Amino acid sequence: MAHSLSPAIHNAAFASTGIDCTYGAVRVAVGEVPAAVRRMRDERWLGMSVTMPHKESVVDELDGVTDIAGRLGAVNCVYWADDRLVGDNTDGAGVVWALTSHLGLGDVRRRVAVLGAGGAARACVAALAAAGATEIVIVNRTPARAEAAALLAPGVARVGAPADVEGVDVVINATPVGMGDTASADDGAVRHVPGPGVVAMDLIYHPAETAWLAACRRNGATVANGVPMLVGQAAAAFERWTGVEAPIGAMRGAVEAELAARG
Ligand code: NAP
Repeated sequence: MAHSLSPAIHNAAFASTGIDCTYGAVRVAVGEVPAAVRRMRDERWLGMSVTMPHKESVVDELDGVTDIAGRLGAVNCVYWADDRLVGDNTDGAGVVWALTSHLGLGDVRRRVAVLGAGGAARACVAALAAAGATEIVIVNRTPARAEAAALLAPGVARVGAPADVEGVDVVINATPVGMGDTASADDGAVRHVPGPGVVAMDLIYHPAETAWLAACRRNGATVANGVPMLVGQAAAAFERWTGVEAPIGAMRGAVEAELAARG
């Protein structure tokens, strides 16, 4: 939480839209989720973001969840709807926005490979299938988790082997391989390096370019790091909270300034 970019993103969005709100980070220990949600109700906060490890347990404290949050069993954004507290999961919307708008694909009617089967990968699978992906191949170190993720999109998603990544239109790295001390591009499923005509997206944004993403770029693929997804999920949350169109440019500028300051 200490490293969260969310305060910078959302405070920039409030400033840009002239909405008199402040976004602050609150440390919540395991077991304190009911008290945190009570505080949101009592103090009539406009909304709340939820990060690990509370994305699953917060569901029990809410009045309802959106379809996608229910299917994922994980909430990253809480908002008011008709005096009810509702949980949503906007991570997948962030990925779809990154592909369709940021990278200009227009739609996601493509064959997609998702590397990983954790929370971010599951959000990708559910949202991409809902948005019209024609095929989703999930490649993960632990096959059982890939099988569980594939159940989120029956008929569209399947478990694949690393070799299946060749031949898809979009490859998404949703593992931490390439971040910090897992810097090897040869680790896990992140082996195939796509070329021209293929989109390679790494959900990691620190470093700004992982070894794998750099190799994809050099090989001629269209590339994006995790910043567009981060901005896209925050924009979706902002719109849930405020009903106002998210100021994407200001939000993206805030992320880039914050990351540059962190070096
Ligand atoms: P997670 O739930 O812990 O899942 C991690 C996944 O990566 C698991 O499927 C795991 O495989 C796999 N994995 C971990 N280490 C690996 C290795 N050395 N080799 C191969 N596979 C490995 O994590 P998450 O929350 O989904 O996050 C995944 C990544 O997405 C992180 O880098 C995170 O920073 C990024 N992310 C970015 C955004 C954004 O807005 N840009 C949002 C959310 C997450 P097993 O199942 O075998 O353990």
